[in-house]
Amino acid sequence: MFRGIVAVVTARETPEGAGAVVRRALPSAQLPSLDPFVLLDEFFVQPPAAFPEHPHRGFEIVTYVLDGSFRHRDTLGNDSTLPAGGIQRITTGRGIQHAEMPQAEGMNRGLQLWINLPRALKGIEPEYQAVPPAAIPATAGDGYRVRQVVGGSSPVRLHTPVLYLDVALEPGKTWSEQVPSTYAGFLYVLEGSGRFGADAKEGGAGQLLVLGPGDEARATASGREPLRFALVAGQPLGEPIRIRGSFVD
Ligand code: MN
Repeated sequence: MFRGIVAVVTARETPEGAGAVVRRALPSAQLPSLDPFVLLDEFFVQPPAAFPEHPHRGFEIVTYVLDGSFRHRDTLGNDSTLPAGGIQRITTGRGIQHAEMPQAEGMNRGLQLWINLPRALKGIEPEYQAVPPAAIPATAGDGYRVRQVVGGSSPVRLHTPVLYLDVALEPGKTWSEQVPSTYAGFLYVLEGSGRFGADAKEGGAGQLLVLGPGDEARATASGREPLRFALVAGQPLGEPIRIRGSFVD
């Protein structure tokens, strides 16, 4: 059964870091959290704006670079630079400090997703994983291209079962994908516009569409431009999400 769309949230421009602006799609007044997900930002950073050293704890971070490149340094001694298409995963656990610095002269853009950790795992050792673009599984067919950011054969490892796909569709094309019925999730539109779910709800760039019950997600590129969106779904933890700044306790 195709999942419907039960809410459409327009991301809000929010100042973040040092001089950077993010489109924050989650959390919002309309959608305070979506267990197991805590936060989704589409960030746009042009030097000298940046995210200098700051702390995190109690959750996991998946950062997906879309344009430009980012250098990450942390208190575990990691120092790596990821180009567009690269992914980094940080299990912040009992605590980590890091800096995320844009490297390209022009616009550096990406998606950052926070996934809650089960209460029993909030005190685990922090861990960092960098995945270069070539290591991300991708499939392509007639008018579509899908990159497997998390789940399936993606090398990105999380403590919570998550399916995270980057989907690009040519105008007029329809795509669907099985999503376990126990997962909660959403679609976030990166570029173009489309019709989504059982009820063909319209959504455009910067909008998050919450998936209703069912076991399959569906999208059609309905505009004149190609449609690109992220499908993000995961197993809810059933525990309260307590956000305190950059911590999730
Ligand atoms: Mn951070």
